[in-house]
Amino acid sequence: MDVYDIVGVGFGPSNIAVAIAAEESGTPLSMAFFDRREKFSRHAGLMFDGAEMQVSFLKDLVTQRNPRSRFSFLNYLTERGRLADFINLRSFYPTRVEFNDYYTWAAGQFENSVHWSSEIVSVAPVPDDGADDVEYLEVTVEDTATGSRRTVRTRNLVIAPGGSPRVPEGVHPGSRVFHASQTADRLARDFTDHEAPYHFNIVGGGQTAADVFIHLRRSYPQARITTSIRGFAIQAEDDTHFVNELFSPEMPDWFHSREPEFRERLLKRYSLAVHTGVSYDLIPAIYREYYEDKVTNSGRLRMMRFSELVATHESDLRVRATYRDLEGGPDTELDSDAVVLATGYDYPTPVPFLASCEKFLHHEEDSSYTVRRDYAIETGPAFRPRIFLQGFAEKTHGFSEVLLSLMPFRAAEIVASRYDAATLVGAE
Ligand SMILES: Cc1cc2nc3c(=O)[nH]c(=O)nc-3n(C[C@H](O)[C@H](O)[C@H](O)COP(=O)(O)OP(=O)(O)OC[C@H]3O[C@@H](n4cnc5c(N)ncnc54)[C@H](O)[C@@H]3O)c2cc1C
Repeated sequence: MDVYDIVGVGFGPSNIAVAIAAEESGTPLSMAFFDRREKFSRHAGLMFDGAEMQVSFLKDLVTQRNPRSRFSFLNYLTERGRLADFINLRSFYPTRVEFNDYYTWAAGQFENSVHWSSEIVSVAPVPDDGADDVEYLEVTVEDTATGSRRTVRTRNLVIAPGGSPRVPEGVHPGSRVFHASQTADRLARDFTDHEAPYHFNIVGGGQTAADVFIHLRRSYPQARITTSIRGFAIQAEDDTHFVNELFSPEMPDWFHSREPEFRERLLKRYSLAVHTGVSYDLIPAIYREYYEDKVTNSGRLRMMRFSELVATHESDLRVRATYRDLEGGPDTELDSDAVVLATGYDYPTPVPFLASCEKFLHHEEDSSYTVRRDYAIETGPAFRPRIFLQGFAEKTHGFSEVLLSLMPFRAAEIVASRYDAATLVGAE
């Protein structure tokens, strides 16, 4: 069986960027990417009409690293015959629907290397005879349609599975309690009457909560919407000019070389640049909805401040959410037709399908992996294959780790740092 140069787990933007960087590296590399989805789609549950990207189109899969690349958003527009129209829009921010189409177009150029409906279920070191010398990895892939399994071998595994929906403790997802990433599907399945006076409870105050709010308000004009937030107010994302320099290409080097306590302080101080802020333009639109609700005295909109969701109980017809009052008052109970958890994403470690490799992988005290500057998990010298992570290293590599901004650079660093048994590229 041949040993691939690169095997990728997932084929979202992070690994599409790796495929592009590999193709543009000038060295022919054998690659296979596996994704459990049936075809390319990014955040399908939040693909609402009109929702915009939060980054400039120039932060596509490649332009910052190689402005002449054929995989750029501008080349996509050219091929779609919309370049002049896009210029006329005078916007740096395409809609999510359009950027999704761009990603689909880029993914389609690697048809020969991508396997859809294929989930990576385990990764084993080879040889696995108890010795510590490992030359490559054997990756087991399950066909999500048939359940059949096969194995492939690789010297470099690039793991980019995206974030896992975060569910608060005490909360039980069910037919009326779902993570925001499932919003479109659940609404289409269970909330088909757009004139009904449903009561939706959105939990969270970030960008996703804001997008869901606007979508519900437009699609269900008679609905009541209660938004519960832990703080006093929803806040604007900070993408002002100087703060945005946190996403400059040289930042991972700078960030990585700082002391852990300093990095932690920085991540907290500028969290509005990444995790907790809402697009500046959306805040007046949301405020106007609340204002109109007061003018018309319809009482359909409510914001519960300083409220933390601690439990949900579903019955056939309703769901009851229990909120802790963060000001110290008594708990509040809220009945609604659905609780939408806009509560974010995690990158949990250890990664379950790496269980057979665990003894070789180095960890930090909090069980996260020790991730080297080149995004490979730290191992002993006798473990020669490389396991790269994308999205897991915000703590050490900084703000752009879970965002699109620096994907082209991260991808190129990974490709350059791969282990190549023949030329010893990447060997120490
Ligand atoms: C709603 C939303 C909007 C966002 N908007 C922006 C934005 O505007 N700007 C920005 O900078 N960032 C944004 N982000 C953050 C980030 O850029 C995106 O999440 C981005 O899609 C991450 O790309 P990815 O390839 O790492 O992960 P994903 O896009 O999540 O892709 C991961 C893929 O891995 C597959 N997979 C997972 N596990 C396995 C397995 N075991 N086997 C096989 N396949 C597997 C999944 O099916 C999926 O297709 C947004 C995030 C969200 C959730």
